[in-house]
Amino acid sequence: MDTAPLIGKTYSLQDATASSDAYFERIGSIAGSFLDHGESLTKLLSIVQRTSQNKRRLNRFSLASTESSVESVLLRALSKNFSEYTTKVETHLRDLSLLQAWDKGLATSERQYHLYMLEIELINRSSIHAFRSTTTRLAFLPHCLHDLNADCRRIVRGDDYMCKGCSEECEVNVVSKMLRRHGVKPYIWMTANLKSLFNRLRKEGKQVGVLGIACIPELVNGMRMCMRAGVPVVGVPLDANRCARWWGEFHPNSVNVRVLENLLGDETLVLPRRPKLMNAGVGQ
Ligand code: SF4
Repeated sequence: MDTAPLIGKTYSLQDATASSDAYFERIGSIAGSFLDHGESLTKLLSIVQRTSQNKRRLNRFSLASTESSVESVLLRALSKNFSEYTTKVETHLRDLSLLQAWDKGLATSERQYHLYMLEIELINRSSIHAFRSTTTRLAFLPHCLHDLNADCRRIVRGDDYMCKGCSEECEVNVVSKMLRRHGVKPYIWMTANLKSLFNRLRKEGKQVGVLGIACIPELVNGMRMCMRAGVPVVGVPLDANRCARWWGEFHPNSVNVRVLENLLGDETLVLPRRPKLMNAGVGQ
């Protein structure tokens, strides 16, 4: 069995064992540490979102240990703990064409990646109970997760494409089955206009919740859009960014199914084990 970790264009959450478990445990611990130090979830989320918005302003924050602003402390802790997952960002940014550099997703900086990682974790914590209590739960999966060796038989059904289950090895198939077991309707996101969809479902009197799976910049965008629309949203980032948008062609990809199951199930969201943080962190 091939256990080489997936290589992403800018990031990979997998370690040498080809697992992203350690990443998810670490991001849970970092979020927990900040919250243990007295920041409210709402305030911390607002700081994280505001800090990542403007790249120029973001670059002005020093990571020197003498800097004590909340933004510098945050960026320092994130950099120490998550730089190993974003080693290819700088090379990718250097190679962007002028046109590509205008694309906010493609031009995401390393500091933004780290803030986005924390933002996803914080949104999950703030929305999980509301998401689980909605009556209409929809999931939007990226088509890049499908089995590249299969002749994909996805079909339009309802509000977007759905998996027909033609390949047992297909991650979309595996995840779709799991989602259905938990009462979540899985779509492969190809054509749905989410704003119109939310409006229509609301008019029909439905309480809608969304689960998203995508690469980190796309996932943050989608989760923010759902929040602006007042829709409870949770999300799991892909283990790496490996689709044609980043590479010019598709490469096989994966998502951490254990983390997904944890979000869907009744277990506590915070993972029980707290790995040692990289000299880190919070408050230093
Ligand atoms: S299992 Fe589903 S998503 Fe995967 S290739 Fe077949 S139809 Fe497409």
